[in-house]
Amino acid sequence: MYVFHVCDTCAPAIVNDDYSAFEFHQDPDADYERVTAFVESAGYLVDAGRVSKPGYWDCESCGQVCIGSAYALETLA
Ligand SMILES: [Zn+2]
Repeated sequence: MYVFHVCDTCAPAIVNDDYSAFEFHQDPDADYERVTAFVESAGYLVDAGRVSKPGYWDCESCGQVCIGSAYALETLA
């Protein structure tokens, strides 16, 4: 099992398989491509709740820099 930490935009999109949120980003194609590539390489992911992270961290899905709490997504394998 592996845990990925992703941002508030990516987590619901990945868990619900609903990427409509990315349509409102400034560069929707780039974000969407990154996130779908991440999901393809990571496989099936389940919501493992929120975790607090110290300082700045990079979303492991879209790559954006975040601060504060992250969503944890777990692989099943
Ligand atoms: Zn993200």
